[in-house]
Amino acid sequence: MTIEQEIKRHEKEVMASVSKRYAACCRRCKGNEGFQRHEIRRRTFYCQLKNGQPGAVRSWLVRWKCLNCTCTFTDYPPFALPYKRHIKPAIFEMVMKMCRDQKATYRSSTNGRAGHSSLWRWFDWLSSLFVQGQACARFILSADPNSLLHRNDYFVPPYKSRSKSRATVLTIGFQVLDRFMAFERFVAENFPQVRNTASPTGDAILQSDNISHTRSTLACTFLAFPRHPH
Ligand SMILES: [Zn+2]
Repeated sequence: MTIEQEIKRHEKEVMASVSKRYAACCRRCKGNEGFQRHEIRRRTFYCQLKNGQPGAVRSWLVRWKCLNCTCTFTDYPPFALPYKRHIKPAIFEMVMKMCRDQKATYRSSTNGRAGHSSLWRWFDWLSSLFVQGQACARFILSADPNSLLHRNDYFVPPYKSRSKSRATVLTIGFQVLDRFMAFERFVAENFPQVRNTASPTGDAILQSDNISHTRSTLACTFLAFPRHPH
């Protein structure tokens, strides 16, 4: 299924009022039952279309109300990130290209799919999640002592930035994203049922380093890409 088809399927489900809730639990009280669809909100997603060209697909995000604590929250499908119009896989791919491809520049990494300033901002966003990246690494290393994650090299050539502070942002952003992706792979491989039920809604989750969580708690607490602080 292409990403465009995935977005369309999501839209169909929302319009048919059978939208599934991706978040496994309430972000405030962590309860996992008793939810009511609260409202739906328009959202444009920038992604690659069927013809291979970059484009925009209009769809919806659903807001749910927890009947236990009355908190309302936006539910993000797996391809979306809070406050980002570009889909998650595309953002990750462009950031990784900038880091791993020796010749890549801000402009060539996005290749017309996004403004080069967007890439600049995504690095700022990722580097602001340094603590969560560390929590991902801690989780993986405690659960799998043979993991080589801590040996990954996050060097970004100095010619990719004009200042030392920018070089630091690139390096930290690279490290955070690599750890997030390693974490997603780890959870998908070891807790396959989590992938379909978790969503990027929890802030606190990645700060947990208790690996004895039950599977349902994992669904609530991991795979979470925290909100952008701004
Ligand atoms: Zn609640």
